[in-house]
Amino acid sequence: QWSRVKKRLRAELGEDVFSSWFARVDLESRGADGTVCLSVPTRFLKQWIQSHYRDRLINLWQSECGDINRIELTVRGAIRARPSVVAQAASQGGVATAGSLKSSVGDTRSMSVPDMMQSRPATVSAFRPVESGSQSMAAADVLEGAALDPKYTFSTFVEGRSNALALAAARQIAGNGPVTYNPLYLHASVGLGKTHLLHAIAAEARHGGRKVLYLTAEHFMYRFVAALKSQSALAFKDTLRGIDLLLIDDMQFLHGKQVQQEFCHTLNSLIDGARQVVVAADRAPGELETLDDRVRSRLAGGLVVGIQTPDYELRRAILANRTRQVAAAHPNFAMPDGVLDYVASNVTANGRDLEGALNRLVAHNQLTNQPITPEMAELTLRDLVRTHEPRRVKIEDIQRVVSKHYNVSKPDLLSARRTRTIVRPRQIAMYLAKMLTPRSLPEIGRRFGNRDHTTVLHAVRKIEELVKNDPALAQEIELLKRMLDS
Ligand code: ADP
Ligand code: MG
Repeated sequence: QWSRVKKRLRAELGEDVFSSWFARVDLESRGADGTVCLSVPTRFLKQWIQSHYRDRLINLWQSECGDINRIELTVRGAIRARPSVVAQAASQGGVATAGSLKSSVGDTRSMSVPDMMQSRPATVSAFRPVESGSQSMAAADVLEGAALDPKYTFSTFVEGRSNALALAAARQIAGNGPVTYNPLYLHASVGLGKTHLLHAIAAEARHGGRKVLYLTAEHFMYRFVAALKSQSALAFKDTLRGIDLLLIDDMQFLHGKQVQQEFCHTLNSLIDGARQVVVAADRAPGELETLDDRVRSRLAGGLVVGIQTPDYELRRAILANRTRQVAAAHPNFAMPDGVLDYVASNVTANGRDLEGALNRLVAHNQLTNQPITPEMAELTLRDLVRTHEPRRVKIEDIQRVVSKHYNVSKPDLLSARRTRTIVRPRQIAMYLAKMLTPRSLPEIGRRFGNRDHTTVLHAVRKIEELVKNDPALAQEIELLKRMLDS
């Protein structure tokens, strides 16, 4: 039924709106009690769907199968919410930075011990009644950006070899000098400080009296679609073009043709008018596969800077910095240097994991009253410690390894042939692409011979189901994963 519901949603809302909000909604389960559980990648999307599409969704489900009476939305992979940000979100009309809400397993960044203890799983029953009026969007509302985290400033950002260039460019743009690099495009994988830098630029420029707008790509879509609905699209465009500095975070989530076109116009008119634009994404412009070519080339035409994973020195410095902050709040807190060394040399992935590690040690220390020692750290952080850096797996690698392993040619793998000996390897390859790469379902579909994203979703579900009852297949998939990961 879910695919039928989606089909009807797509027909009713139009491709643009549909792909903006529903392309990344997955069906998790359908309970016998009439509850449908859907998952979304971010809290922002959850709030948005809850407050704008709940009735429509329920109605559609009910017309597809009458026994549905409740829809529950969960944020995929989210374990903890950040109470402070949720509170901010509420005071800002349900909008918060998607970056700060994109919690993942083990994501305990910026949490103090009491925060961590109060946290609840991010599963919240959807479709409570919303206050009337929450759907309309006045033109004056349009300029309000997403919340800035006051902790993300230049003074709390630690410089290292891997981010020195990005930091220098960010500083330059935050200052009051003439526009030099435009747009500035920052790219790095998760947890390496993109959002931190964007907030730092925004705060400093605002302090300097400039008109600043910080939005995640999702917010941009939200503002735009809301403006279209309330027929204030012109006001939206005007306000956007009247600002001095536009910062767009998580650019990889900008979906929808019309939205991208609008973004392109905004980009052009800002840049041509010598207003600064800063964009952050988890990959280089050339790899933003779903992005319109014109937007992509315009983005690549300014200064493109990557942030690499931090080296030991930087990890150690970030930890020491955070430790000082924690110690200031907890007078009896002591962190031996040896433990900092241990964490810095063993938790190597990114800034978020480092913070998570530190928070866990602090929590352990406060809850058990035991001093932090290297042994305690080793035990507490076992799962964060990696023996080797995971490689970035590419879809081509997956296709190569799978076709070799199953002795199916790559053209066959990508073809429309429905022979069983080809279908299964193809499904496994799509499943692995979903599991091992950050690519979205539509992107994966495109890379597998232009298939629809529902086909990919079906493949993922199918393999997940098979693996549950087929240990041999599970083992085979583990083997493939290991081949790809080494
Ligand atoms: P991204 O947006 O790239 O995913 P964030 O900006 O959210 O990453 O950073 C994740 C966490 O790591 C944040 O709490 C941030 O403050 C911290 N962090 C990352 N890099 C640094 C750095 N160089 N100095 C201080 N903190 C950092
Ligand atoms: Mg971010």
